[in-house]
Amino acid sequence: MATAAFWFRRDLRLINNLALFEAFESSAEKSVAPIYLIDRSEFDALSSIRAHSLLASIESLRDSIGEALSIRVVDSGDEYVRELVRLVKSLGVSELLATRMFDPHGIAQQNAVGLALGDAGIYLRLVGSNYAVQPGTVLKGDGTPYRVYTPFYRAWLTQNWQQQVAIPKAAKWHKAADSDLLPVAGEPAPFKIRAGEAFAAETFAKFKRRALHSYDEQRNRADLSGTSHLSHALAHGEIHPITLLSQLGESPGEVVFAKELAWREFYADVLFWNPESLNDYYEPRFARMRYDTGALAQTRLQAWKEGKTGYPMVDAGMRQLATIGWMHNRVRMIVASFLVKDLHLEWQEGARHFETLLTDFDPASNAHGWQWTAGSGTDASPYYRVFNPVMQGYKFDPNGDYVRKYIPELRHIDGADVHEPWNLVHGYLQGYAERIVDHAAEREESLARLEEIKVRD
Ligand SMILES: Cc1cc2nc3c(=O)[nH]c(=O)nc-3n(C[C@H](O)[C@H](O)[C@H](O)COP(=O)(O)OP(=O)(O)OC[C@H]3O[C@@H](n4cnc5c(N)ncnc54)[C@H](O)[C@@H]3O)c2cc1C
Repeated sequence: MATAAFWFRRDLRLINNLALFEAFESSAEKSVAPIYLIDRSEFDALSSIRAHSLLASIESLRDSIGEALSIRVVDSGDEYVRELVRLVKSLGVSELLATRMFDPHGIAQQNAVGLALGDAGIYLRLVGSNYAVQPGTVLKGDGTPYRVYTPFYRAWLTQNWQQQVAIPKAAKWHKAADSDLLPVAGEPAPFKIRAGEAFAAETFAKFKRRALHSYDEQRNRADLSGTSHLSHALAHGEIHPITLLSQLGESPGEVVFAKELAWREFYADVLFWNPESLNDYYEPRFARMRYDTGALAQTRLQAWKEGKTGYPMVDAGMRQLATIGWMHNRVRMIVASFLVKDLHLEWQEGARHFETLLTDFDPASNAHGWQWTAGSGTDASPYYRVFNPVMQGYKFDPNGDYVRKYIPELRHIDGADVHEPWNLVHGYLQGYAERIVDHAAEREESLARLEEIKVRD
């Protein structure tokens, strides 16, 4: 083949992109026509910050490839497939290369593209993945998939990682078509949003210098920048996990970091085997639990979204999400537990809100992060975890700095007292919300509702 066709998806990188490497390999002239499509119906549903962060990723890819990257903007999923097929046909190639996706949307999309290309006599060659170990390949001795993380992790460690590759030095880019103008996000970006492959490498380098050595001890501290902040890059494929894993040693910080990357791989595997768990209960009996509905439930959901529940740690997290499109992992668990176990709402309500706002949105990690916290997911623990939002605050924001950063109405309170404004005479002086529920009472209520589904089992 003179020129090979390559379809960029959530793999916006040139390094360790096995499918792109194969595309270059398949071209006699080491020439690849890179194509990227934006479905406006999906783009328009994104929050402004998420839209800007996606645009920053695309612009960065265009900076590294140049004008040869053909970017087409289409109005629907059907048009996406038609336009991609049209472009590939115009190149006169016999195959299109792309990275294989493992989530339900990615699978449906690649199936549709594969079928439509097949009708035109062109083969869709799906290569590699955005994981060190391809989802669906780590199996128990009896050939069934894992349902619990730790044994999965042990088996995952023994697998070969995807090979490391670089595109050839003599690589040539071939332009398939003129690009459309990029869509515009609804509102201007509230701050400068950086993304892309080079930024991901820079972020990892900084993390290695700054926090990797103490990651095992500090990753849970919401008030410190103790984590990598690589989740946007991993979710968009701007960096491959093998790039990270291959640079890790055996220190406690490095081992725990690799374990976190393995959670991402575990959830991708679980979603691959259980595609319905994207929206349905992984443990079906939780669908029978009593959840709150109606006007009061909706008002409470709204208070949760706005960060006005009256629980400082929950509200700080929700406002961090709204402000920067990212939330600390520990706080994601606290706010998720609060929605499901204090407000008795279904996890899907919260997951949908996260999907709109999270710049690192990942279908598997989001659905299963929620289900784990709700108690309906993998790793169901013998006891039912109900996070105490106040105690979690004292533990993971010990000086109250995280809460003060995101809640101006509490900035007049010094130190850890900020976690219980109700104990202070001046606690509500700046108009902070009163608690919408009583945690101790709702905890009991949640446990009682759990008993109901146990009894009926
Ligand atoms: C309710 C809930 C929803 C979540 N939704 C998402 C989501 O949509 N997208 C997403 O990438 N992560 C999600 N997570 C996992 C986790 O919160 C984020 O990956 C993490 O906060 C990202 O910050 P970081 O890159 O600094 O993480 P680090 O601590 O530096 O971890 C490095 C990488 O490991 C992976 N990782 C770490 N922890 C987890 C975890 N618990 N589960 C899966 N992968 C993990 C991520 O890719 C992360 O970037 C969710 C967790 C919960 C509890």
